[in-house]
Amino acid sequence: MSLSWTFALANNLKIDLEAAAWKKFPGVCPYCGRRPCDPLCNSKERPEKLRTDLTVARLDHGSFHDFQCMLSQVYPNNESRTSAGHSFEELAEAVQAIDFGLGRHEQQDFELIVSEIVDVIAHICAVASCEQIDLATEMAKKFGNGCPRCHYLECRCNFTTDVAPPIRGPEA
Ligand SMILES: [Zn+2]
Ligand SMILES: [Zn+2]
Repeated sequence: MSLSWTFALANNLKIDLEAAAWKKFPGVCPYCGRRPCDPLCNSKERPEKLRTDLTVARLDHGSFHDFQCMLSQVYPNNESRTSAGHSFEELAEAVQAIDFGLGRHEQQDFELIVSEIVDVIAHICAVASCEQIDLATEMAKKFGNGCPRCHYLECRCNFTTDVAPPIRGPEA
């Protein structure tokens, strides 16, 4: 559901998230330019700035499934718990960028919003990969027949996560 809300947010801001995601992660780590990411990249040696000389590995971008697989190859040593923590940090950074950017309407602020939203989905992918969950498959299961509750392609029931079935099963 957090992924679907992130997609909704990108739609709302008219961001082509697929293109933006592959642009930021073009098949390699955007900091060290390697696949898998250089072990030193996560240390203090990590360059401050993103590399700008990297080209998109696949011009047709590939599916969301491909994106998740590519990230797990770039970052094979991710762990669930730290990735989950980082995904919250990225969400907070995205909210901050939106809060700051929407008040000023500057192009560079908008680019930061796009970049932060891409980081949110990248970290959700990381958590899912650690847990052997294919997000594209799970999204198709949940949303493949339209709204999960009313099943219209354009929801007519005002579905929100408030009325979604609980994530955990019934307490034993
Ligand atoms: Zn790296
Ligand atoms: Zn509905």
